[in-house]
Amino acid sequence: MLSSAREAGPARAADLGGIRMYPYADEDEALRDVLLLARAMTLKASLAGLNFGGGKCAVIGDPSVEKSERLFRTLGRFVEGLCGRYIPTEDMGTTTRDLEWLRAESRFGVGLGEGHGGGGDPSPMTAWGVLQGIRAALEVVTGRGELSGRVVAVQGIGKVGYPLARFAREAGAEVVVADADDGRLEQARFELRAKVVSTSEILEEPCDVLAPCARGGILNKQTIPKLRCKVIAGGANNQLLEEGDGKELRRRGILYVPDFAVNAGGLINVADELGPGGYRHERAKAKTDEIYATVRSILAESERPGGP
Ligand code: NAD
Repeated sequence: MLSSAREAGPARAADLGGIRMYPYADEDEALRDVLLLARAMTLKASLAGLNFGGGKCAVIGDPSVEKSERLFRTLGRFVEGLCGRYIPTEDMGTTTRDLEWLRAESRFGVGLGEGHGGGGDPSPMTAWGVLQGIRAALEVVTGRGELSGRVVAVQGIGKVGYPLARFAREAGAEVVVADADDGRLEQARFELRAKVVSTSEILEEPCDVLAPCARGGILNKQTIPKLRCKVIAGGANNQLLEEGDGKELRRRGILYVPDFAVNAGGLINVADELGPGGYRHERAKAKTDEIYATVRSILAESERPGGP
């Protein structure tokens, strides 16, 4: 038996994407979410130049109390039955440990811990990619891509938002953060000298860059009129509630950088486990750096007469 998806070599371009564990109200809600997320993964993989389709998996349950080795091994047997057509990784509500349980039953699954030949938690790489997108957008809007002297507001300082706030701070920006988790806020205040505002205030915070790094759908008819930022670029998936919301942002002179363009770093990082020789951090980082050029070319195209 082959020991990994890399050795197994999926017969066709596989669908790659995370397992989201969330206490969805019912199967319909889970299905709607998973289809939207899988679509975003397809766009993300395509723009990042990865030879994968977009896949996603939803597990209905509360990750804080309903996780078990048995659950993820059962899921692993199902994944194995798909013979490499779907390669799972982690997403909100799941971790490298869950993937390792799953891999006990299946050859297919990436985003493993470093001790298991993987790249570990991909979130810092996601944050690194978002930072490249922010630099590109600032350059287009202000003629200067540097973060020094900028104000970056981060909504949600979890696995992606916190390292993003740290990278922005290290690059000389002032950071403003909001989260429901008091411990993380305290850490950001202490470590990053961040200004802390409430979750209801963060979207209205005057800033150069708003980085949504919590749930999707937060750019909508209710929130857009309140925004006071020049650029929106963040890690959250599906930030626009409806496609028309993007047009409204443009009408208001706010540059929205598509989430699937800037948040591909994590996908690049986990996909690298399937590359020649297995995971190589420097190779994954170099590919994530390309997000800067990708965003520049999307923004140039969008300004072209007759462009989107
Ligand atoms: P996470 O659960 O670690 O972090 C989310 C944070 O947002 C939590 O700290 C939570 O308390 C906070 N939050 C929730 N609602 C909030 C609100 N209304 N206001 C402020 N904060 C709020 O998740 P994550 O892995 O950091 O992912 C964040 C987003 O980025 C998700 O949409 C995810 O799908 C997307 N994403 C993550 C990755 C990755 O590598 N982890 C990759 C691509 C996209």
